[in-house]
Amino acid sequence: MQTKRTTQDYLDLDKQLLWHPYTSMSHPSPQFLVEKAEGCEITLSTGECLVDGMSSWWSVIHGYNNPTINQAIEEQLKQFSHVMFGGLTHKPAIKLGEKLIEITPEPLQRVFFSDSGSVSVEVALKMAIQYWHTQGKASKQFFVTPRSGYHGDTFAAMSVCDPENGMHNLFTDALTQQFFVSPPPTGLHTPIDENYIAEIRDMFSQHHQKIAGFIIEPVVQNAGGMRFYNPDYLNTIRALCDEFDILLIFDEIATGFGRTGKLFATEHSQICPDIMCIGKALTGGYMTLAATLTNDKVALGISEKDGVFMHGPTFMANPLACSAANASLKLLLEGAITEQVKQLELWLKTSLEPCETLDQVKEVRCLGGIGVVELKEAVSLHNIQPKFVAQGVWIRPFGKLIYLMPPYVISKHQVEQLGKAIYQVIQDK
Ligand code: PMP
Repeated sequence: MQTKRTTQDYLDLDKQLLWHPYTSMSHPSPQFLVEKAEGCEITLSTGECLVDGMSSWWSVIHGYNNPTINQAIEEQLKQFSHVMFGGLTHKPAIKLGEKLIEITPEPLQRVFFSDSGSVSVEVALKMAIQYWHTQGKASKQFFVTPRSGYHGDTFAAMSVCDPENGMHNLFTDALTQQFFVSPPPTGLHTPIDENYIAEIRDMFSQHHQKIAGFIIEPVVQNAGGMRFYNPDYLNTIRALCDEFDILLIFDEIATGFGRTGKLFATEHSQICPDIMCIGKALTGGYMTLAATLTNDKVALGISEKDGVFMHGPTFMANPLACSAANASLKLLLEGAITEQVKQLELWLKTSLEPCETLDQVKEVRCLGGIGVVELKEAVSLHNIQPKFVAQGVWIRPFGKLIYLMPPYVISKHQVEQLGKAIYQVIQDK
């Protein structure tokens, strides 16, 4: 008879068998076994209840175990959980496509579904290359992107990530060599630096014959440093892209669905990209689903002369994921999202402000549902993660950054708990 496994048994098996993100198999970092998650709390099998400051990598915007999203998935499950999207279609995908077109800037009219953020970036880059190919400009195969960007872990996505920040530099020689410009100067309201514009113009004018697109995370560079920049840069970059026949690609995977206080970060600017990637919070963090949206110019351009777009993942437009996304969007659009995130921004500011007095802290900055405490030195995740758990919170820093991106439904009290835990852990460091 098999004896009942303890928490430690499971954790030992996990350690032996499973690779976790960005970890070693011989020196794995500590893992915590989750028993359940509800609202903004994650309960461990040891009984500890943690306030969630991460929204499971910025995706669970309505909290865990949400009855509306649960119900939508259950209803779809009774019909069918998956069918191939080649030759077949279904209502959850059609409704989702319709909604996405309605809520994103008007020129974006066509939707390609895929299974993760990284893949949606691959799709965006392929769309751009294929578009220029059909326009008789096959030499346009490369991309310009600012340093400090992050667009995913697959190969083409890696090629447009910051080339030196440590995440992917091991692979440099195996990656397509793209064109990098400096990161946009930081500060949401910092006046536009004309030298920065000149740098992009120089890059475009020298290499435009080879450049298919310019890819950027609008307003916030996320995993590359949680850097906020003036949205006016996007207006100018749009004009430069038009001048040099370069497609503009926005990666809204982290910023989309309200995180920066607008439904999409694009709305902080006056322009619209040619191609836009979304993912993460698309399904309310329930399932993996992403999409690449584009305008008629690109979509119909690719389709000229019997052209077909060369991509088709097995789980494209998975019906359960589309149903979760439809329910999540319903919640998002019915609720007063802008007010909710504005409120969250205030709570984050007041809860993180005390950290500014600590010697170890370089800067505290907040935008929408993002609160960042930048330290002077990098933290050891190995050491710091258990300390946060001991404080009753779930926070996962990287490098010098301890940051919060909680579910939008978090309470003021819970944000205060997160802020106090950060203060305490930095102070005891
Ligand atoms: N782009 C951005 C801006 C991201 O933040 C991420 C994930 N952190 C990705 C792309 C990759 O998405 P995924 O992890 O779903 O592949």
